[in-house]
Amino acid sequence: MTPMFALVDCNAFFVSCEKVFQPRLEGKPIIVLSSNDGCAISRSNEAKNLGIPMGAPLFKIKEIVKRNQVHVFSSNFPLYGNMSSRVMETLKTFSPSLEVYSIDEAFLDLRSVPKSYLFSYGCDIKKIVKKWTGIPVSIGIGPTKTLAKVANNLAKKHPAGCYALLNPEKIEKVLENFPLQNVWGIGSGWSKKLSQFSINTALNLAKMDSHWIRRAFNVILARTALELRGVPCLSLEEISPPKKSLISSRSFGSPITSFEDLREAVSSHASSLAQRLREQRSCASLLSVSLKTNPFDNTGRFYSNTYLVPLVHPSQDTTTLIKAATLALEIIFREGLSYKKVGVMALQLLSEKHIQQPLFNAQNLDNSPKRKSLLKTIDNLNRQHGKGSVIFASEGLQKSWRPKASRLSPCFTQEWDQLVRVG
Ligand SMILES: [Mg+2]
Repeated sequence: MTPMFALVDCNAFFVSCEKVFQPRLEGKPIIVLSSNDGCAISRSNEAKNLGIPMGAPLFKIKEIVKRNQVHVFSSNFPLYGNMSSRVMETLKTFSPSLEVYSIDEAFLDLRSVPKSYLFSYGCDIKKIVKKWTGIPVSIGIGPTKTLAKVANNLAKKHPAGCYALLNPEKIEKVLENFPLQNVWGIGSGWSKKLSQFSINTALNLAKMDSHWIRRAFNVILARTALELRGVPCLSLEEISPPKKSLISSRSFGSPITSFEDLREAVSSHASSLAQRLREQRSCASLLSVSLKTNPFDNTGRFYSNTYLVPLVHPSQDTTTLIKAATLALEIIFREGLSYKKVGVMALQLLSEKHIQQPLFNAQNLDNSPKRKSLLKTIDNLNRQHGKGSVIFASEGLQKSWRPKASRLSPCFTQEWDQLVRVG
């Protein structure tokens, strides 16, 4: 059976999630802001039509927002994560294998669907996802992942919201008019370089000799050219490989000066990293803590510093990580400054299976079965009762360092007391 892929992409995903539980927003201009209420990262069509660009900082579009009564939301990632799982679960019913590509995108394997039925199958997927989750999606279908991406781009402009690139003549016609920088993985940098060789459209690239591309550019671009020609080079990656490093960092809602507040923030980041390490079954051998003041602050005292702490025994234990991160903070903290951002990174990650047990320190806390089962219990409680149900005391309860989120919608799907009320 020849391969066939569908790329399902949620339309204006964050905005769509907000709309599911607030139907009064239908047809209204809506934007969702990045962390700390910074820039517009998701826009409804109505907001796009008002000329609000992607990534526009809120202060720059204040006038448009006010004049047109644009509905503005802080990002509510727990809600979006939850809605994303609902969409992915629904998609699983349409294909035996699926690759979750990002929070709002997934590739499906459709090789078992007869060719003549593929377009209407795509339309069915769209209909069911909307019915079961409330989220509108666009679907592109093609014989390679790169062509499915191209088809998805066209589906966004197509009234059916679904587009299938199945026969070579149609593929060639579409690629002839398809801008190179919109091809998956190319972007404006590569397309500028390619234009020096008179490669200006996706079709130009598809027709180039792949050995030449490999020599003149690289193997990734050669693969893209082959994929555009309909030769599948990329397969579905159903299981994502564990990450090689993890980061947890945020800008503060308002400047922080006290060591205590910073320590709470650092503990909180370290704790979240430890939980993610356990989730992907790896341990960190190195921890890095970075701290900086606001570079745009006009006091003229910009300060930024990073400190690395090697962990003698690679660890995924919250206490070990909090201790190491606090130690680093003590070293780089300077009194009398107002800080803008702090972040913690877990580096040199190893699989928990490959950790060498210490020879002389058998009492090492991290390794005791009691310790492991305690952390497992904490993870389970936080999974069942919501993130932050059980925390370490050093993370603090007030969290005055929390990022600004003044326009947050309720947690419709995760908190009992924030469910939608009817009547
Ligand atoms: Mg999307």
